[in-house]
Amino acid sequence: MRTRAGEHFDVLVIGAGLSGIGAACHLQRHCPERTYAILEARDRIGGTWDLFRYPGVRSDSDMHTLGYSFRPWEDARAIADGPSILRYVTDTAHHYGVTDHVRTGHRVERAEWSSPQSRWTVQVRHAETDELSTITCSFLFCCGGYYRYDEGYTPHLEGVERFSGAVVHPQHWPEDLDYAGKRVVVIGSGATAVTIVPAMAQTAAHVTMLQRSPSYIVSLPARDGVADWLRRRLPRMTAYQIVRWKNVALMTLSYQLSRRRPRLMKAIVRRGAQRQLPEGYDVDTHFRPVYDPWDQRLCIVPDGDLFAAISAGRASIVTDEIETFTGRGLRLRSGAEIEADIVVTATGLQMLALGGVELQVDGTPVDLPDHVVYKGMMLSGVPNFAFTVGYTNASWTLKADLTAAYVCRLLTHMRRHGYDRCTPADEDPQLIREPLINLSSGYVLRSVQDFPSQGTRRPWRVHQNYALDVLDFKLGGVEDGVMRFARGGPPTSAAAPAPGADEAQPALSG
Ligand SMILES: Cc1cc2nc3c(=O)[nH]c(=O)nc-3n(C[C@H](O)[C@H](O)[C@H](O)COP(=O)(O)OP(=O)(O)OC[C@H]3O[C@@H](n4cnc5c(N)ncnc54)[C@H](O)[C@@H]3O)c2cc1C
Repeated sequence: MRTRAGEHFDVLVIGAGLSGIGAACHLQRHCPERTYAILEARDRIGGTWDLFRYPGVRSDSDMHTLGYSFRPWEDARAIADGPSILRYVTDTAHHYGVTDHVRTGHRVERAEWSSPQSRWTVQVRHAETDELSTITCSFLFCCGGYYRYDEGYTPHLEGVERFSGAVVHPQHWPEDLDYAGKRVVVIGSGATAVTIVPAMAQTAAHVTMLQRSPSYIVSLPARDGVADWLRRRLPRMTAYQIVRWKNVALMTLSYQLSRRRPRLMKAIVRRGAQRQLPEGYDVDTHFRPVYDPWDQRLCIVPDGDLFAAISAGRASIVTDEIETFTGRGLRLRSGAEIEADIVVTATGLQMLALGGVELQVDGTPVDLPDHVVYKGMMLSGVPNFAFTVGYTNASWTLKADLTAAYVCRLLTHMRRHGYDRCTPADEDPQLIREPLINLSSGYVLRSVQDFPSQGTRRPWRVHQNYALDVLDFKLGGVEDGVMRFARGGPPTSAAAPAPGADEAQPALSG
């Protein structure tokens, strides 16, 4: 759909990935009177699940929690492949009538808030013509993901120009790459590497996973037996909700155990790997990280496929550092050489906040590190603006759903009380700030300083805990003394709780 000059929407959603489509479904269901559009930079919907095309691309969390709260995941596989997830997102968009609201080829470059007008003016670059146009909206909801789409992260690779084979980054997978019978080296030890290695090992001559240091790798069943059993006996939504909460409980338990009893968790993970690897395998060199579980995300392998590929001799792990590429492969610090026809650099993403959109409030640029996040979904001092960032220790969609539902609550509250604006107050000067993302992974450490921070207490604290957030987002009052509501003119002091209003149930936050 093309954009007409002077168009105005109640809500503009940036991004038509899993979160943007979910946000639009929430708007359709809970705020049907609001006009909205989704502006998507690419020419297709699906985001991550359309972009990544490498062999074996799949979820690394279960689909009962990566699926939407309002639409059951009914595929037999609990850990699903990328194309199935993409189909689920596009089917959901069709089912809820959201597809017609998506404008592809619309990249949002900047957005300027005007308090006198109580609206955002959003500058959009059109992929077809490279022209700029503007659209206005009353509320801006950024679902632009958390990383750069145009480029993945590749560290400096000494001597790579000498290498005669192909070097491929998983984010830009060549459709016609033929790796059957070829010797492949996959550099990396994260979720992408552990996915690609067993997938390529099915037809490659051999796949070597070359890692500088190991990650925690845990095998989970690709199918969920409880889900299969419940689906045959209960209505689909009931079965889905039970499995969703079961998986939330298991995830929370495993996370809490990791944080409170790291040595026990390390032993459990080590024993799991050892049991699935050949007798005498050097588990400690290749599967014992130097950090504690959940300092970085755990890697999941469905039905132990990585361990099976290693046991079958089709894949191997080398823990070493690259000294240089050579004409025929790689020379390592230990002096060992690995010959390769193809090198895959599974070296990660480049994080990017808010889809790279530049924000201004009344002419002042919003410098993200100066701001603190409110409930992990809004920015201190920035009116009528929300964004989606999922959990680091659980499925992204759990938080995305809560965020979208909360935006709907805010919009309903504002409509009911005639407010034009909601602004999380500039944070308490006594607030102690912390980095927004509490992982020590390289891709986080490289860019977390470009992100806003979080505080150490509610509502500025980001809980990596779905159950706590459910209480806070669903039962806490939207008038919590921190969120300021206003009509016309600039926002005044924090609004007092409005007794009797339906949103003003006892605030659990604050
Ligand atoms: C390979 C891979 C596997 C993953 N597996 C899991 C998993 O199993 N479980 C999990 O919880 N998380 C996983 N994640 C994280 C994953 O990104 C999220 O689960 C989820 O897909 C994010 O959805 P999103 O819609 O928020 O962002 P994205 O999927 O990144 O979509 C963002 C969309 O916004 C568009 N956009 C961005 N900026 C702009 C702009 N300025 N203007 C217009 N449009 C814009 C993009 O083009 C894109 O379509 C995975 C990530 C990757 C890369």
